[in-house]
Amino acid sequence: MDDFFDTTLTPSALSSQDASLMRQALREASLALEEGEVPIGAVVSWKGKVIGRGHNMTERLHDPTAHAEMIALTAATEALGGKYLQGCTLYVTVEPCPMCAGALSWAQVERIVYGCPDPRRGYTRFTPSLLHPKTSTALASGEISEECSRLMLEFFRSKRGPSK
Ligand code: ZN
Repeated sequence: MDDFFDTTLTPSALSSQDASLMRQALREASLALEEGEVPIGAVVSWKGKVIGRGHNMTERLHDPTAHAEMIALTAATEALGGKYLQGCTLYVTVEPCPMCAGALSWAQVERIVYGCPDPRRGYTRFTPSLLHPKTSTALASGEISEECSRLMLEFFRSKRGPSK
């Protein structure tokens, strides 16, 4: 499962504002973990302020579309009173899946920062061009990135039961 570290995007050091917002996304991911959900969290920021947050709720809501990004996106568009997230950055602990990348494209989110790649379900594996042409992406490196993937590794390890 070390392949969570594989990537096509070069990881980069985050600015202190990016790092602190990514920490908030990590907090959301921990909430998901406590609820037995896949530990992925997301926040949307606008002018440095968090306007939407969410974590994976597919089990609780019995909804396969209730990914962290979708919940944060809906909260953010509601906060802004429009369907677009121009000028917003979405922080998510794990690379978005194609569904979320599509939704973020519809929202024209300006920037996406994610914590670690998802070589199995990440959109770059399927359709790297899915995002809006004006959306830029960044992949975290170092401690934050490791924490994002560690949550996922622990979750899937616990799902598989005692180590073999
Ligand atoms: Zn998704």
